Amino acid sequence: MPPRVVGCVRAVRWGNVRVMIETKSLRKQYGDVCALHGLDLQIDSGVIFGYVGPNGAGKTTTIRILCGLLAPTSGEAWVGGVDVVRHPDAVRSLVGYMPDFLVPYEGMRVWEYLDFFGAAYGLRRRERRQRVDDVLDLAGAAAMRDYYVETLSHGMRQRLGVARTLVHDPRVLLLDEPTNGLDPRARVEMRVLLDRLRQIGKTIVISSHILPELASVCDRVGFMEQGRLVACGTVREVQRQVHPHRLLEIESLSDPGAVAETIRQLLPGDKIDRLERIENLLRVQFEATEEEIARLLSGLVQAGHALVAFREVVSDLEEAFLALTSGDGFGRRSTEP
Ligand code: ATP
Repeated sequence: MPPRVVGCVRAVRWGNVRVMIETKSLRKQYGDVCALHGLDLQIDSGVIFGYVGPNGAGKTTTIRILCGLLAPTSGEAWVGGVDVVRHPDAVRSLVGYMPDFLVPYEGMRVWEYLDFFGAAYGLRRRERRQRVDDVLDLAGAAAMRDYYVETLSHGMRQRLGVARTLVHDPRVLLLDEPTNGLDPRARVEMRVLLDRLRQIGKTIVISSHILPELASVCDRVGFMEQGRLVACGTVREVQRQVHPHRLLEIESLSDPGAVAETIRQLLPGDKIDRLERIENLLRVQFEATEEEIARLLSGLVQAGHALVAFREVVSDLEEAFLALTSGDGFGRRSTEP
């Protein structure tokens, strides 16, 4: 479907929108506090982007600018090719925003609440009836259709929050801390829901402090610290920034000494950082490409070693975050000027 915001879009058809969200030198100053220091961000269409950072990092500020609720002090931002600074009204139809705190509307049933937001987005009554049922189904929340909003549990409210963002069928969802305060089951359910939304083509930005759970659902992550983007890329790329040298664990039924000898023959001596043996397990750390790892595996098999495990050890996202941020407001590997 072509965008209805003709006159202020940079890309003409949705099919052409590769970069769905873009900011250039985005800066936000609240009095003396600089919440964003010239943020440059690009998020491709159809991805789930984890926007990670501690309290006060600038996540909410970015999200509110992207949905046209807050004007930046300087810099530029586009959503779906629409300039959010010059055309905030146009942007609102393109994005669904879930704030970190959902205001409970007293005395309103769930379907009425969604119907109310549908009306606010200009949907006609008949269209709204169908849409409310559709988004409740999509959010796995059909059973709570007639519940009063104020009686919902926290997890149900978060689901309703996501359903609300979908009511006008936006291309982009901006979800501020959607997993905050959820129990483990509700978090898993939220991940499943986000995955479903990705499958139907939504571009999703999720801000969160809870790092490990994002690794499994996000295509890309950006780490923020005090208004600066200190790392950005796929989860793997960010993890590689912490450990550029790959760590492999190799287990075999063969003599570990003989396996270690083959590894030394296959990898030049100056390549290996570390080769250690823990009973039957060998741990080898070296700077390697995917091809070199594949060659090592096939070399070991060709040498006749009976391998039972050959795996890479990767750091988790929490470790990466701690390593890439300094905690003093200045990332050690800042990508910003
Ligand atoms: P949290 O995870 O706690 O929500 P955040 O990463 O979303 O944090 P922001 O809410 O964007 O961070 O805040 C970034 C900085 O801007 C903080 O120092 C905050 O105190 C400040 N700030 C945010 N909103 C305002 C405001 N309306 N007036 C003054 N300062 C503000």
